[in-house]
Amino acid sequence: MDIGRAAPVPEDLIARAPKVLLHDHLDGGLRPATVLDLAREADYRDLPAHDPESLATWFAEAAYSGSLERYLETFRHTVGVTQTASALTRVARECAEDLAHDGVVYAEVRFAPELHLSLGLTEREVIEAVLAGFEEGARLAAESGHGIRVGLLLTAMRTATHSRQIAELAVEYRDRGVVGFDIAGAEAGFPPTRHLDAFEYLRKENAHFTIHAGEAFGLPSIWEAIQWCGADRLGHGVRIVDDIEVLPDGSAHLGRLAAYVRDQRIPLEMCPSSNVQTGAAPSIAAHPIGLLRRLGFRVTVNTDNRLMSGTSMTREMHLLSEAFGYGLDDLQWFTVNAMKSAFLPFDERLELINERIKPGYAEARAEFARRLSQGQEPSHGDS
Ligand SMILES: [Zn+2]
Repeated sequence: MDIGRAAPVPEDLIARAPKVLLHDHLDGGLRPATVLDLAREADYRDLPAHDPESLATWFAEAAYSGSLERYLETFRHTVGVTQTASALTRVARECAEDLAHDGVVYAEVRFAPELHLSLGLTEREVIEAVLAGFEEGARLAAESGHGIRVGLLLTAMRTATHSRQIAELAVEYRDRGVVGFDIAGAEAGFPPTRHLDAFEYLRKENAHFTIHAGEAFGLPSIWEAIQWCGADRLGHGVRIVDDIEVLPDGSAHLGRLAAYVRDQRIPLEMCPSSNVQTGAAPSIAAHPIGLLRRLGFRVTVNTDNRLMSGTSMTREMHLLSEAFGYGLDDLQWFTVNAMKSAFLPFDERLELINERIKPGYAEARAEFARRLSQGQEPSHGDS
C-alpha cells in the first residue's frame, strides 16, 4: 500500500502534521469563554448566551442560516467586545496560541481596523495592539514547543470608503508584521472596483493583496478581482467552477477565466465549512475543491471563521480526507500550495517548506505506516 494515499487520515495525525493557513478572520476566531470575559469587562450586554457552550452553539447556529448577510451579523458581537487595546491584544495572542496548538506553522490572519474605533482607539493603535498579541502568542506557543509565524492582513470593508487609507497603513506597517491587504464584506452591490484607488496604490508600492471574490457572487466578481484590480490571490473563489464544464467521460473543459486562473497559478483560499454555511457550496462532499484539486488549480485549505464554523485547520483537513479520500500526500500538497502562496519573502517560504512542512509530513507518513502495520486500519478503507 502507498502510505501517502491511505485515507482517511486519523484526526490526531492531521493535528500533529504542519499546516499553513492563509484565510482566517481575527474577529471570527475568538474563544467563546473570551467573548464572555470581554463582554463582562466592557459591560457589553447584547450577548445572546451566557456560558461558553451555549454561546458557541449560538454562533454556529446563526452562521448556519445559509446567507452571507446573516453570517456577517454574528460579527457584531465579536467586534463589539474588542474595542480596547487590551481586548485586541488578548484576542490576537489567543489566536496565535490556538493556531499553533492546532499544528499551524504559518498563518496569515486578517481583520478590519476600521471596525475597532468606537471607543476612541486610532487605527494605528488598533493595528499595534493586534501585532503585539501575535508576537506574544507566538512566543508563548514556541515556549511550549509549537513554533508558529503569524502575519497580519489588513482588511478594508467593501461597503465602506476608506480602503485607500487602510492600504496605506498596510504599506506603512509592512516591515512590522503586516504582510498584505484584503477587501471583505457583503459582495452584492459592492464590486471590488469601487476600491481601485487602493489597489493601484498597493501595486505602485509592490505590496500584496487578496480579495474576497466568487463566494456569494459568480464569475464577474472573480474576473474583476483579477483582471481589473490585480489581486494576487482570491478569497474563496469557489464560483470559478461556473466556468468549468465537466463532460460525461469525466474530462473537463475550462472557460477562458478558469484557464487563466489555473495557468497563472492564482491561489484560491478555499474555506470548506464556511462555504457550506453561507450556501456557496452544497456540502463538503460536493464542494468544488474536489474538482479543482483534480484539475490542478492552486487550491489551499482554510478556516475562515473558526468560532462561527466551530472549526480548525485540523478539522477542515479531516473533513476533506473523509469526503474525498485525501491521504497525507494530498494534505501536504494543500499545505505546500498555501506556503508557496503566502505573502512572505520567497526564501522564507522555501525554508518553511523544507525545514517544517516536508519533515513534518514524512514523520506523519512514518507514524501512519507504523499504525497500519499494527493493524489499526483507517476506519472507512482506502481511496
Ligand atoms: Zn473570509
